[in-house]
Formats: sequence, structure tokens, C-alpha cells
Amino acid sequence: MSVIDEVIEKVKSKDKDQPEFIQAVTEVMGTLRPTVDKHSEFVKAKIYERIVEPDRMIIFRVPWEDDNGEIHVNRGFRVQFNNAIGPYKGGLRLHPSVNLGIIKFLGFEQIFKNALTTLPMGGGKGGSDFDPKGKSNAEVMRFCYAFMRELYRYIGPDTDVPAGDIGVGGREIGYLFGYYKKIVNEHTGVLTGKGLEYGGSLIRPQATGYGVTYFAAEMLATRGMDFNGKVVAISGSGNVAQYAVQKVTQLGGKVITMSDSNGAIVDEEGINAEKLAFVMDLKNVKRGRIREYLDKYPQAKYFENKSVWDTIKEKSPHIDVALPCATQNEISEDHANTLVKNGVVCVAEGANMPSFLGAIKVFQENNVLFGPAKAANAGGVAVSGLEMSQNSMRLSWTIEEVDAKLREIMKSIHKASLEAAEAYGRKGDYLTGANIAGFIKVAKAMLAYGIV
Ligand code: NDP
Repeated sequence: MSVIDEVIEKVKSKDKDQPEFIQAVTEVMGTLRPTVDKHSEFVKAKIYERIVEPDRMIIFRVPWEDDNGEIHVNRGFRVQFNNAIGPYKGGLRLHPSVNLGIIKFLGFEQIFKNALTTLPMGGGKGGSDFDPKGKSNAEVMRFCYAFMRELYRYIGPDTDVPAGDIGVGGREIGYLFGYYKKIVNEHTGVLTGKGLEYGGSLIRPQATGYGVTYFAAEMLATRGMDFNGKVVAISGSGNVAQYAVQKVTQLGGKVITMSDSNGAIVDEEGINAEKLAFVMDLKNVKRGRIREYLDKYPQAKYFENKSVWDTIKEKSPHIDVALPCATQNEISEDHANTLVKNGVVCVAEGANMPSFLGAIKVFQENNVLFGPAKAANAGGVAVSGLEMSQNSMRLSWTIEEVDAKLREIMKSIHKASLEAAEAYGRKGDYLTGANIAGFIKVAKAMLAYGIV
């Protein structure tokens, strides 16, 4: 049995109640096979075994009071997975589905993603099973304060720098940072995704959505194509989805779908800038549901309790490019087959692990350009890294400067992924290339430290 299979088996038996973590380890380890023969030093130093075990996992109680004076108790998590190449870095997720296995899968993926950005950031992730939906601002604030009341002792600008993720946007980062600043009495870059007035970076809100679009554009260019005139399916209607819609539209593509956890819309006329402004107001200000899109644009269709990928199966529109930007495990093997049948040439993952392993296989077997999350959605954490640099230097770069750096980083991730794929005998395989490129960097750093 190879070391790779041994590690996968060990994780399966030790962490059997963590299916998402097992899935992520299986995917990453499966693609690292070609590194085993070339790097006996990694095998000897047990790097493969060590990298699947987090440095530490912190689980804590988060008690908070609602507007009626009732007390609730949620569970908080921070998994500090690996800081071989820089301080732990990764978002906080607030969603009822959050559990240790989900945070571990996200933290594990983050190690390789952060390494790929070329910036010095380790991997971590955190969050809570708190559901911000339907809560008042005051309740969200009290929850964020209670969460930070425990988390603050484990983080710091050179230790661990959390950011946003599902359910954590500008509002939540404001409450979290405000409370941290209050109790620690330091105004430092301990969180990213901050408001511009208090240390945030321009382009950070746009970064993941723009970045995934830039990455897809790089992939299309390898086949002499671009976004102009392409029909694009995007899932989600949160931070990543909104800015992916914006950038694709700016590059001449036509986005025809969006969704939330209640259902999906299909607007075959295209979600142009005016319609996107309506969605942004609906989601970010009114905190409404995507079905309300039809109140303003009744020519669109709404599919209750369906994902974008279900509706594509049902309606069968032609799709050139798919950008899943909602959540993990959205695209099944069946969905992938439908997308291939409907003409898809490129899939780039804005969300983390949105495709099941079977779906990835379908894309690869059908010669679809497949951009895995850790490469395609690294733009968000990359600009977070730039926010950390600006905080340390106490200066702010312009929109043009940050956007240019983001583009450059996405280009270099694309190049590094392709080069690593080719060097390890998997030409054109972005998944293998991205995993190997990220892994080698972290593994070499771990090796340098000895046995710690
Ligand atoms: P948001 O909370 O802003 O948006 C998430 C969107 O996905 C919402 O439309 C939400 O619907 C929908 N969604 C969430 N959970 C589910 C579910 N279980 N089923 C169906 N739809 C769901 O989060 P982000 O846009 O920030 O994150 C989206 C994805 O991108 C996540 O996988 C995240 O990890 C990843 N990501 C985010 C980065 C960032 O910079 N924000 C960076 C890199 C990756 P509803 O409104 O109903 O909740």
C-alpha cells in the first residue's frame, strides 16, 4: 500500500464522522501520488501524515442573548491547520451546517490555496453553527461579540488572521473587529475584509468573484477563447456570486442564473448590470430572497428548492461556462453530465469544493477546462494577504493597484498550476497541478523545521 493510500485510510478510520474532511483529503492526496516517487525526503519525514493533522483545533461555547432576552448557545470553532509558510489565514463561516468536519475540510484546502497565492500565509478556518438569517442587527452584533470574546486569545496579526466566508460579510467583520479592538486595545490587522475606513483594502469585497473570472479567462485563453458572447451559469447570490456576475458581464459574457438556499432563478435575457444592482440591494441591504428577483423581472423563472444545476437539467439551456459560487457539494456527477451535454467548455470553482469527486471526473474525461477551488477562488485570500501588507505598512493602495496585483496573482496561480501539472506528468490537469504546486512549497518548509 502506498503512503498516500495509508494516509487516506487512516483519516477515514480516525475521522469517520467527518465526510467533507475525508472527501477533501481523498481529493488532495489522490493528486499527490506523483510527488511520492520524486520526493523520498517527504516520505521519510512523514510529511504526508503530518499535513492532514491540524496544528490545533479550538472548540468553544458561544452564549448570546436574543432581542427577547432569551439565551442561546452556539458552538464556535477555529482550526489552525498549518502555519509552515506564514500566520494561519482563512475565513469564518456562520451557517447552521457548520461542524468540525466542515471547518477541517476548509482549513485543509486553505493550506494549499494560500501557498499558491505566492504570499506568506498558512491555513486555518473557523466559524459557528449560528444562523444569521432572520436575526436582527443587534442579535448578530451580540453573537459576534460573544464569538470574539473567546476567539481573541488565539488570534493576532502574526498568529492567525481570520476573514469572512458564508454568512460573514462586512457587517460581521465590523462587529468582530470592533470587539477585538476594544478588549485587546490594539488597532492591528487581525482580521481582513475590514471596511475601508478602518484598514480594509479596496477590491477585497470583489476579489474572489473577480479572481475566479480572471482564472476562467486564463483557462479559456489556452484554447483561444474569451468570455465575449459566452453563456454563463453562476450559482449563489452572495459575495462571490455577485462579483463573478459583475466581472463576467464586464468581459462580455451573459450570466443567466443565480440562486440562494431556497431556490434558483433563470433569466435567459441575461443578468445585466442594472439587474445585478437590484440583486445586490436585495441581498446585501434588504437581506431578501432570490425569488424576489421576479417581482422586478417577471420574465425570469424561479425554481423553488432547486439548485442552479437542477434547473439546468430541467430547462436544458446551452451553457458555455459554469461558475459554482454557493457552497460545497453542489454539482453531482449527474449535474456534470448535464452540463457537458449542454455544451460546457469551462468550469471554475468560486465556492469551496462545490463539485463531488465524480463530477470532477466527468469534466476531466470530457476535456472540460476544470479550475479547482484552491486555484480559481484564491483571489479572495490573495487580496486579504494584500490587506495584511497594507496594514503592516500603514498605507492603502488604489483600486487600480490592487486590481492589477489580483490579476497578476491569478495569472501566476494559473501558470504555476499548469507548470506543476506538466512537471509531474499530468499536462493540462489543473487539479493535480494546483495541489502539487501548493503542497511542495508547504512540504519543503515543514521539512526545513525538522520534526515539529
Ligand atoms: P455568502 O454568504 O455571501 O453567500 C453564499 C451564497 O450561497 C448565498 O447565496 C447562500 O444562500 C448560498 N448558500 C449557502 N449555503 C447554501 C446551501 N447549503 N445550499 C444552497 N445555497 C447555499 O458567502 P460567500 O459568497 O462569501 O461564499 C460562497 C462560497 O465561496 C463558499 O463556498 C465560500 O467558502 C467560498 N469562498 C468565499 C470567499 C470569500 O472571499 N467570500 C473566498 C473563497 C471561497 P442564502 O442567501 O440563502 O444563505
